[in-house]
Amino acid sequence: MAFESAMTSIVGSMSGKSYDPDQLLTVDPEDGKVLLVEYDLERAATTLTKESLQRRAWDLWRYAEVMPVRAEEHRLTLGEGGTPLLHASRLGAQLGVPNLLVKDEGRNPTGSFKARGLGAAVSRARELGVKAIALPSAGNAAAAASAYLARGGMDAYVFMPEDAPETFKRECRALGAKVFLVDGLINDAGAIVNAHAADRGWFDVSTLKEPYRAEGKKTMGYEIVEQLGWRVPEAVIYPTGGGTGIVGMWKAFDELEQMGFIGSKRPKMVVVQSTGCAPIVKAYEDGERHAPLWENATTIAPGVRVPVAIGDYLILDAVRASGGTAIAVTDEDLLAATQLISSVEGMHMSPEVGACVAATGQLRESGFLSESDEVIIFGTGSGLKHVDLVDGDYPVLTPGAGDVADVIDNWYANEA
Ligand SMILES: *Cc1c(COP(=O)(O)O)cnc(C)c1O
Repeated sequence: MAFESAMTSIVGSMSGKSYDPDQLLTVDPEDGKVLLVEYDLERAATTLTKESLQRRAWDLWRYAEVMPVRAEEHRLTLGEGGTPLLHASRLGAQLGVPNLLVKDEGRNPTGSFKARGLGAAVSRARELGVKAIALPSAGNAAAAASAYLARGGMDAYVFMPEDAPETFKRECRALGAKVFLVDGLINDAGAIVNAHAADRGWFDVSTLKEPYRAEGKKTMGYEIVEQLGWRVPEAVIYPTGGGTGIVGMWKAFDELEQMGFIGSKRPKMVVVQSTGCAPIVKAYEDGERHAPLWENATTIAPGVRVPVAIGDYLILDAVRASGGTAIAVTDEDLLAATQLISSVEGMHMSPEVGACVAATGQLRESGFLSESDEVIIFGTGSGLKHVDLVDGDYPVLTPGAGDVADVIDNWYANEA
């Protein structure tokens, strides 16, 4: 049985102006700020019930009443969502946070949580008649967009920094996208998309420059609450680039409260960035609501190499309202922590996740997190796309050679 979307309007997050939701929208025509989708939550709650959810598939459309797609035929799925919330007891013990959970988003189609946002945005764009989509991306968003666009029979134009990991570029080509490399960063790629989209009839799905991607990412908030048995954790540790996940989850908690699924308690929302690109952390520390462009952004974690975020005020509002914080870790620390979570828990994660692991350790040391806190790290991406970050130096054994036993005994001897 198909459940109906209870979408009623699209509203300017700053202006408060309301727009007809059944037209394709980008940013608020009033002020160029972020638009958010609104629903008749009372109506949604008549069919979106705990009982009804027990019989639904774990994909984006599990929460169809609070998703921005009306017709079932346009609800594209590749089996995204429903990712496991795994107890990381060995890692948690090492970090001093025994109740540590990891939401393993690397299991999504194309290996990252970008599948949620792009699954939603591509579906809604298709429903509104869009034939081609363009976006700037550090890699994962491009891959996810390429996959759902192929699924929907639409054209993908993706623009990545020239130095994006090779895996992402090839993945997009495999998925049928037209790939362009930009001599610059993601914001430079965004400027190129912006300059050429209108003429070519592309719908630009840059982060938070349209209202639909955040709706897909919102399902992470619904899922963790449902997986915890209808409550929130103490803290959510999130590697933050454009911030769609923070904005989406924060919206999800409000919707869940209005529908009576949870009370007014919220998790502390923790923004994690790299010291090589930490605009949101700096704005948080400076007490600002907007984050100026971060010059010369460098980090090996592509998902958080985002020098400027249009939704900065929404991210910072959520962090502050939740009693959360924002913290930057060095690339050295995040790389070591990526290796740690992989080898200690068997969760092969991307470097953005390593940043969260490192941040969790530091926040426990500083006393921001306490031992009894239930903490969720967002495992936003799979490590499989980043094997180049792993040491690739191995012994080669020659059958019959005299030193085989010796090499086996000694090669890894100083790894504890
Ligand atoms: C895009 C991305 C992020 C940042 O997500 P936002 O919601 O845009 O802040 C973090 N980790 C990975 C692996 C990503 O691909």
